[in-house]
Amino acid sequence: MSRLGSPDNPLLVAVVGSGPSGFYATEALIKSGVKTRINMFERLPVPYGLVRSGVAPDHPKLKQAIKVYAKIAEAKEYNYLGNVTVGTAISVEELRTTHHAVIFTCGAETDRRLGIPGEDLPGSYTATEFVGWYNGHPDYRNRKFDLSHETAVIIGQGNVAADVSRILAKTVDELKHTDIAGHALEALATSKIKNIHVIGRRGPAQAKFTSKELKEFGGLADCDPVIDKNELALNPESEVELADKTNAGNKKIYELFSGFADREATTDRKCIFTFLKSPKEVSGNGRVESVLLEKNTLSGEPFRQSARGGGDTFSIDAGIVFRSIGYHGIAMPGVPFDEARGVFANVKGRVVKDGEVDPGLYAAGWIKRGPTGIIGTNRADSVETVKSLLEDLDKLDTGEDKPGAAGCYEILDRRNIRHVNFSDWKKIDACEVERGQAAGKPREKYTSVPEMLALLD
Ligand code: NAP
Repeated sequence: MSRLGSPDNPLLVAVVGSGPSGFYATEALIKSGVKTRINMFERLPVPYGLVRSGVAPDHPKLKQAIKVYAKIAEAKEYNYLGNVTVGTAISVEELRTTHHAVIFTCGAETDRRLGIPGEDLPGSYTATEFVGWYNGHPDYRNRKFDLSHETAVIIGQGNVAADVSRILAKTVDELKHTDIAGHALEALATSKIKNIHVIGRRGPAQAKFTSKELKEFGGLADCDPVIDKNELALNPESEVELADKTNAGNKKIYELFSGFADREATTDRKCIFTFLKSPKEVSGNGRVESVLLEKNTLSGEPFRQSARGGGDTFSIDAGIVFRSIGYHGIAMPGVPFDEARGVFANVKGRVVKDGEVDPGLYAAGWIKRGPTGIIGTNRADSVETVKSLLEDLDKLDTGEDKPGAAGCYEILDRRNIRHVNFSDWKKIDACEVERGQAAGKPREKYTSVPEMLALLD
């Protein structure tokens, strides 16, 4: 047989997940010059992962990445199999039998846990649930968030916490022309929340927001960013951090915080940023009524400072809590999992089993490196993984005639699994855009899988 990756013997790759990393891996394979066929598997009928169901509805520019992915999807080498869950509808072993290589780009699908009493009390939610709900993700469409209280507590100071706080802080007028799910807009219209506490366990010099996201709090229609000036005091190590030229991002964040601290309040709705506090307990009689916080101090060298509780505690009365402390990957049967880091154990994207590289299995994106970075970070990450894969060409299993997509369709049809192709997605897409028009929205998403499939019948 001719060499793998030649026109007569194309490299067959299964990509698991249709978010940014999946599309960037596809792009890198197509551009590599190696003849290839890519089958991309997605659990939902609709593609684009967190760009569709993670990026906040009021950030349409970030969603422009979808245009790039739609262009990649036009390539003759690309094939989409939506509504197919790898691990249940088709196994990893079956992907290996039908393809020469599998690249996992399935992200980090769950949240880290705080590990404190009361974390799961009704009224205490993960950011993932709330973000999925307002973005119309089918898994979260039926969640109910009790927004009848005046005070909300958000744990964490990363960009997801910024998204959650901002969506709570915005008025309906600020959201109604976005692609926010209709059910979320309706519920947020009745929200009584007016105090949003955004809690950081470390100091103002270590917050993980990006400045563009933080700056938006200064321009909200009916909510003031509030900071107590005393909270902005820095220890010498934090001063060193902010003086470091490589740390311009955090310096900018600190300047924004200082600007917020100087502002006069213009409304009684507030987003209150507070630092050096860790949650110790969420409590209440059958549902969230308060959050106990412990004051922290920082210890360690500049850039390696960690927070340590000093025993001094106080409570905030709050009716709702959102835990936004980072995501965590989920294990998949047949793939070695690093539980502590929540990633598939890998070296430069090559999956490692019992300390040995297992040629044929690769990972890219959050399931490779953990939940860090912005959308664009995933391009270089996927390029590195594809480079590793292409270096392994001679080591891949070519022992049998690999059937690629045809073999997968045969397996799925045998199991009566309804799979969706990219033209099907385009139909759903067009219907969503049309539905949105009447309300002046870019789209009104379908939020249930049966509803999406019914459109195609
Ligand atoms: P993140 O940036 O890692 O922030 C997590 C926050 O939770 C940090 O403030 C962290 O504090 C805190 N935290 C962690 N464990 C904690 C604990 N046990 N108790 C209290 N606080 C704790 O994670 P993320 O916000 O989920 O964002 C994930 C990635 O997506 C990031 O790279 C983010 O930039 C990106 N993202 C980007 C956008 C955008 O570009 N608009 C939007 C959303 C998300 P420490 O610093 O002390 O660990």
